[in-house]
Formats: sequence, structure tokens, C-alpha cells
Amino acid sequence: MRSLITGVTGQDGWYLSELLREQGHEVFGLVTDGDLAPVPPEVKALHGNLGDGASLAAALDAARPHEVYNLAAISSVAESWQHPERVADINGVGVVRLLHAARALAERTGQSVRIVQAGSAEIFGDSPPPQDEQTPIRPTTPYGAAKAFAHHAVGVYRSAGLAASSAILYNHESPRRPEHFVTRKITSAVARISSGSDEQLVLGNLDIRRDWGHASDYMRAMTMIAAHDEPADFVIASGTSRSVKDFVVAAFGYVGIEDWPRHVRIDPALVRPAEPFEQRGDPRRAHGALGWQPKITFEALVAAMVDADVAAVRSRES
Ligand code: GDP
Repeated sequence: MRSLITGVTGQDGWYLSELLREQGHEVFGLVTDGDLAPVPPEVKALHGNLGDGASLAAALDAARPHEVYNLAAISSVAESWQHPERVADINGVGVVRLLHAARALAERTGQSVRIVQAGSAEIFGDSPPPQDEQTPIRPTTPYGAAKAFAHHAVGVYRSAGLAASSAILYNHESPRRPEHFVTRKITSAVARISSGSDEQLVLGNLDIRRDWGHASDYMRAMTMIAAHDEPADFVIASGTSRSVKDFVVAAFGYVGIEDWPRHVRIDPALVRPAEPFEQRGDPRRAHGALGWQPKITFEALVAAMVDADVAAVRSRES
């Protein structure tokens, strides 16, 4: 079995490529020119990017994959307001380029290609939670609108006979999450503070609720979607939302700091305008049809992230 992963150098690419290699797959990864991040072990790098359809066709020709996972995207929701056209091009139109290339490969070679898109809870925008596969798509950010277009494109190609599915992923974190995301921002600061730093952790809205899970669980769901007989869309979520404050309390509590407000300051500039107060997915379709269940609890996720950041502080100090 040959698998091709776009966006292979990101958090999710590391977990997904590890899972696929454990399953005995030959794994190819699409890497953009100028991406300096390391390629995960034993992944064969192919150059190309979602902005260039010809590069996608060439990569598919070289890898001849049985399955394609599209993880490549501009990942920051907040920053999508700064460069909305690029986000629309890569996160939206780029998915059409990939679907078109996969369909063309299948037609040319007669070999079927399964494709799983990393979709996003941001497509639901202000549709009230809990959100499932039938929830109205009402994005409120350029990022959400681009992912919504991609979601519809996957449905269009599926109707036309391509085995294309969307994993509608809620926020998924890990020690590999970059520090501009709130979870890792919190755990890296908590690690430094627990090691004696007198810095303040500066945050935006502490009341916002998100449905957080561990990236390894969510990438396992994507492999189960690829292996499933019927291509379809699946909400991948824990089903429980927590506030940013819950995350802060859990992270400080894990290192034994109870007076967390002493270390936290709110900066109104970090409060995002017009964002949904709560995101919470209903993952029952994935439970029933795929047999998927997350293995890592919220508490275990926080602990794993703080442990990794504490270890990084210690290794820097020694
Ligand atoms: P996103 O959902 O992909 O944008 O992931 P983030 O981790 O960046 O943000 C998750 C939620 O945390 C959003 O609702 C943010 O508004 C909220 N949040 C509150 N304070 C902060 C902060 O200081 N930094 C970030 N990145 N998010 C924050």
C-alpha cells in the first residue's frame, strides 16, 4: 500500500506518517520548496505544492498512491484575515487541484485512489453546537470559508465517483503543536514558570470553549476513514468542550501551581473579534461507522504537552 501525505512536515504529518509506517505502508510526503522543517523518518519526499496543479500531478505520478491525505494548509485561523486570498487559494482551490489530479491519475491508470481531506470545525462558524455532519455550514472567517469550499469540492468529486472523504477535525494538539496556538503557548509558559521564570502568560479570551483532542487520535481516525468502504464525511472530535481557562488551570495544576491568576494577564488585543463562543463536535457517526474512539483524555493531553515542555526547558538549562 502506498500513501501520499501533503503537509507531511507539520504536527499532523508526523503522527500520520508514523501510523501508516506501522501499518506497513510506503509513505510519500509532499514538501514545498523552502520548507526547512524536517521530513518525518522513512518518508520519501516529493516536491510540490497545492498552489501548483502541475506539481501535484507530477507527485501523484511519481508515488502512484492508493491513498492521499491532504494535510497541507495555512493553519492559522486568526492570521487568515491578514492574507485571505492566499488562504482561499491554498486551503480552498488547492484542494480542487488535488482532487482533479487524483481523478486524472485514476482515469489514466485505472487504479483507484482514495483521498481524505483534513477539514475543519471552522466550517460551522456560528452554527450552534453540538455540530455533526448535517450541521449548516456557516463559516465566519476566511479560513473557515476556504475550508468550506474544500468541503463542498470533496462532496462534488465524491458524487462524480472519486473515493473522497472529509475528516471534519476539531482542534487537535500535541507537544508538536507550534507555539502560536493557545494550548502550546500555555504549556510552554507553564513549563518555564514552573522552572523559575517570573514571566506573565498573556492571553486573550479565557471563556472561549473549544473541543480539544490529541493529534495522534485524530490522525488514526483519518486512516480509518481511508480504510472505510464508503467514502463519507466524519466529524472527528472528543464531544466535550473546555474553556481556555480550563486548559490554563489544568496545565498550572499539573505542575502544582494553584495560584495561576498571579501568572496570567489578559490583553484585549488578543481577543478575536466575532469568533464562535463554543465549538463542540458530535462524533457519533465516527464512533458507529468507523469504530473510532479517542484514547487520550483532555487531562492526559495537557500532561503530555507540559511534560514535553518541561523536558525541553531542562535540556536547554543543562
Ligand atoms: P485556532 O482555533 O486554530 O485558531 O487555534 P488557537 O489555539 O490559536 O485558538 C483557540 C482558541 O483560543 C481561540 O478561540 C482563541 O481566541 C483562543 N485564545 C485565547 N487566548 C489566546 C491566545 O493568547 N492565543 C491564541 N492563539 N488563542 C487564544
